Amino acid sequence: MKIERAVSRRLRYAIIGAGMSGILAAVKLRERGDADFTVYEKASELGGTWRDNRYPGLTCDTPSHAYSYSFALNPDWSAYYATGPEINAYFRKVAADFGIMPHIRFGTEIISCQFDDTRSTWALGLSTGERAEADVVIVASGVLHHPNMPDLPGLSSFDGKAFHSARWDDSAVLDGTRVGVLGGGSTGTQLVNALSKRARRVIQFQRSPQWIMPVPQFPYTKEEREAFANDPSLMEAIRNDPEYWANIYRFTDGLTDFTSPQMAQIEAICRQNLENSVKDPVLRERLRPNYPAGCKRLIYSWEYYDCVQRSNVHVETGGIERIEPGGVRMKDGEFHPLDVLVLATGFRADQFIRPTIVTGRGGLSLDDFWDVRPSAHYAVTLPGFPNMFMLNGPSSPVGNFPLIDIAERQWVYIEQLLEPLRRGAAVMVEPRPEAHRAYEERRIVAARKTIFGAGCTNWYLDKTGVPSTWPWGYKAFSDAMAAPVETEFHFA
Ligand code: NAP
Repeated sequence: MKIERAVSRRLRYAIIGAGMSGILAAVKLRERGDADFTVYEKASELGGTWRDNRYPGLTCDTPSHAYSYSFALNPDWSAYYATGPEINAYFRKVAADFGIMPHIRFGTEIISCQFDDTRSTWALGLSTGERAEADVVIVASGVLHHPNMPDLPGLSSFDGKAFHSARWDDSAVLDGTRVGVLGGGSTGTQLVNALSKRARRVIQFQRSPQWIMPVPQFPYTKEEREAFANDPSLMEAIRNDPEYWANIYRFTDGLTDFTSPQMAQIEAICRQNLENSVKDPVLRERLRPNYPAGCKRLIYSWEYYDCVQRSNVHVETGGIERIEPGGVRMKDGEFHPLDVLVLATGFRADQFIRPTIVTGRGGLSLDDFWDVRPSAHYAVTLPGFPNMFMLNGPSSPVGNFPLIDIAERQWVYIEQLLEPLRRGAAVMVEPRPEAHRAYEERRIVAARKTIFGAGCTNWYLDKTGVPSTWPWGYKAFSDAMAAPVETEFHFA
């Protein structure tokens, strides 16, 4: 950014959240010698979504070597797709290796952020009752962290254990018992896979079936892991695997237009997977979605169709009448006796930093700014909220994209906006309202044409039915993040 040179300034940073994005921001700040930062984490441990989600069967559906920071490759991944616990351990190790731990304040939630117009600083209210101040706020609070609880009549009367998948109850007995799984998204599907090998009976309560993209899974041998450690270029080769990237581009280019040949190709692969894998024609029809593949987030699985055909698994597609002490009563009168009921019903993806009360310049409330829908300029900055930057904020590419890579690219964009502040050439940066309005208008037009807007229900949709995600494909995103357009910002 070509802003006049002035006296350089030591900025104080507050990072909200010690998950994947918050750790990234902390590492990057520390790396460039910006040591005056605090990571505020409301929980007692780091890891974000990988700390909160501990359900059996949790794996990441991005290949493990691609779901790694570019600056912290990990030769020890156990398999092509890594499990939740080892990913959580990876983030702990990165935070320790890169000297981040002393900067994290655990058990401290930011309950309010208020911009001080006269001093151009952010006043932070902490859950401990203390107050803090920062020049720059990095919002790394994640997208999927507020459980979406279903409104099921009688739920509190259930005699067994009932809990949301992201609030796992370790006292629930799964082996040899009868377990119900409500939901068929990525979480419900992975749960059914794992439980089918442990529970006596698994009932999957499925409101809508999902398209399943077949993918390979294989462990890395001890020799392979040693080879990765001795020669990191082998890991880079997996990260840069042309076939993996061809799939990313096929999806990310195709999603911009739900009538595209790429989406038709993806649907053909998923349909063939269904036809070839599920033998019972009745079950096959139960599992056949009636909307285009990719409209709901695609599920990548190497085993769901095998697991769901086990004799101890039943897919229930009827409506639920109520929960009774002993199980689930269906609308047609059928009763499913259960010991455990897992609510894999997803998340409220429209919350982001909320319920933190955020007040920007001139007393502008974030709730008011986001009245119609959450938005951020190129998913990162907000007009009226100077020196506040979001990682994986509203309209970030969240659908089947490698999210670590997204956050790293967003950080490159943020770094460039921070530079004039660091140099003392400006005390405030925020996007111009007209630039943001123009961005949102273009985004909404494009978003309606994407596969996410192709007529199904999914967690991307805002309350007006517009997909709240990046609508222009991966290349456009990486190009946009390479350099902010200076004229779209106001530096004061
Ligand atoms: P989700 O995709 O939003 O799925 C929620 C499921 O619950 C849907 O099947 C939904 O049915 C059902 N549901 C919601 N409310 C219901 C109700 N009142 N009655 C009956 N069914 C109800 O949530 P998720 O599976 O937790 O996944 C969320 C996202 O987390 C994923 O899309 C992905 O981005 C991420 N994730 C990733 C991985 C990974 O491997 N990387 C693993 C897990 C999660 P309808 O479809 O009919 O609404």
